[in-house]
Amino acid sequence: MLETIKHELWKLHLELPKNGLVTWTSGNVSARDPETNLVVIKPSGVMFEDLRPADHVVLDLNGNVIEGDLKPSSDTASHLYIYRHRPDVNGIVHTHSPFATAFAANGKSIPVYLTAMADEFGGPIPCAGFALIGGEEIGQQVVEHIGTSPAVLLQNHGVFTIGKSAKAAVKAAVMTEDVARTTWYALQIGQPQEIASDDVAKLHYRYTNVYGQ
Ligand code: 13P
Repeated sequence: MLETIKHELWKLHLELPKNGLVTWTSGNVSARDPETNLVVIKPSGVMFEDLRPADHVVLDLNGNVIEGDLKPSSDTASHLYIYRHRPDVNGIVHTHSPFATAFAANGKSIPVYLTAMADEFGGPIPCAGFALIGGEEIGQQVVEHIGTSPAVLLQNHGVFTIGKSAKAAVKAAVMTEDVARTTWYALQIGQPQEIASDDVAKLHYRYTNVYGQ
């Protein structure tokens, strides 16, 4: 079932190692089918290059496995918590991408020093608190702290991104690492200045409503 979504997730999962966002089997992507409300997610601890569309696990929003032979991602309960609390979200990504996770290790949010951040995120990338892996506590932290941003850092852990689609959430994960890397470099050679909040709003509006075809 949900073959199209499984195929899309298989391709999107390959974007994580390709963009340097994950190491070995860390990280995961899920998608919600808006018609059935079923969620498709990565099986736990599988190498990305070994993953096949049919390996993905289908669950309902209460965590009942509907289809799949493999154990679902250890972050499944947190993904489901986010979907239950954010009806606007149809895709979720988790990574330990190194530059963003360095900010998370320090419990630091990423300020808006770059127009790319204003464009994509419309504000700082906040840092949520610490939560243990395995239950829905990570999901609670994400929902509590992410606000209107598509990305949030998790103290001592990594990155969660959300989107209207799994592809949008993967794009946000790639952009999070991109701005975290540039911000980290900038902090090595000086103290960058934050962009004024009314300019952040204007940049975000242009990117969201005018940019592109
Ligand atoms: P899974 O392989 O179970 O998805 O775990 C990866 C991970 O990064 C957990 O935080």
